[in-house]
Amino acid sequence: MTATAGSRALAQRRIDLIERLAQAAQARAHVGLGRRLRVRQAGLGTRIVFDGRELLNFASNDYLGLAAHPAVIAALIEGARRDGVGAGAAHLLGGHRAIHEQLDEALAAWTGRARALSFSSGWLANLGALTALLEPGDLCLQDQLNHACLLDGARLAGATLKRYRHGDLDRLARLLDAEPERPALIASDGVFSMDGDRAPLVEIANLATARGASLMVDDAHGIGVLGPRGAGSVAAAGLGTTQVPVLMATFGKALGTSGAFVAGSAALIDGLTNFARSFVYSTALAPPLAHATLAAIRVAQVEAWRREQLARLTRHFRRGAQARGLALAGDADGPIQPLIVGAADAALTLARALADAGFYVPAIRPPTVRPGSARLRVTLSALHRESEVEALLDALARHWPQVTDAN
Ligand SMILES: *Cc1c(COP(=O)(O)O)cnc(C)c1O
Repeated sequence: MTATAGSRALAQRRIDLIERLAQAAQARAHVGLGRRLRVRQAGLGTRIVFDGRELLNFASNDYLGLAAHPAVIAALIEGARRDGVGAGAAHLLGGHRAIHEQLDEALAAWTGRARALSFSSGWLANLGALTALLEPGDLCLQDQLNHACLLDGARLAGATLKRYRHGDLDRLARLLDAEPERPALIASDGVFSMDGDRAPLVEIANLATARGASLMVDDAHGIGVLGPRGAGSVAAAGLGTTQVPVLMATFGKALGTSGAFVAGSAALIDGLTNFARSFVYSTALAPPLAHATLAAIRVAQVEAWRREQLARLTRHFRRGAQARGLALAGDADGPIQPLIVGAADAALTLARALADAGFYVPAIRPPTVRPGSARLRVTLSALHRESEVEALLDALARHWPQVTDAN
């Protein structure tokens, strides 16, 4: 056999990667868990159009209604005129503008930290921070319900990742006590994205301090919503840089734009500027987004009515759901209000019935959540009216028995 023929024969034995991927997708679709993109045809704020139908949107993370706020849009357009649409280069190679500097300063002041550093997305911020902080063999302890990018960051860093059962601080303490010598980072969501509850940050911080571990909080769902002037769940818990040395949050939720930041000491930020590869080797955050985000922060800080309206609607939703016997999550006290259905197909059925009734509330299914805990993830916005929340509750009450009886 010639060398070419031999290598061809070998190549035929090798599994084709695209085919394997396609088979995995088919297998997933076969058990009813396939995912496909649907085009949202139009709509801003709380109204969106899918398949030619206008639906009330109860699925957005735009909690304060800033994504289409006139001041935020104006800042974006003006920012593009002044600085161009794209940054044109990475931060360290000429892409870093005055607006990035202003944004970072505003973020540091808002969160009560010495400094902050912006990234182009939350994924990049978490990957960058975790790989810069952790060395192979270090311990990284994470709540089981943490966001996927925190898990991936620890894995990419080569750290020993140990996950503790949701909120199980005894387990967390035992994991730390078992290896008192190893450098350790505890990383937790501030508000859990699929369950809507808050991490017990004060207790975790005390535990970390007593055991010499560092604490990183991902406050994607707390920033803008919780705490004084919307400074987030860490500020709401009264925790400074000593207790939470690494604070991360995103722009894509309550701030209504896109991007993320890490805030902390000057030493942390200098370290990230050198070693966070997703910062160093990535095009700087688009300048118009930096302008828009700074404008969104100003609105979030001063327009307290948005947080108050959100809190009012949340209380209204929870009271109404309780009165109607819906399966509310016990300790979700913010705008993320999951209704646990159980079976994935039942959650889908319910989501479809709600769409027919004019509401967009997507079903969240495994592997995003644990098997048997499929749910409807209702999210509220300051732009919803109480009557709209009431209408959603009525629709839920009408359709809930169908799926829960069949379950
Ligand atoms: C959305 C989210 C992220 C990712 O942020 P992006 O800017 O969307 O990449 C990270 N962590 C948590 C907890 C999130 O909810």
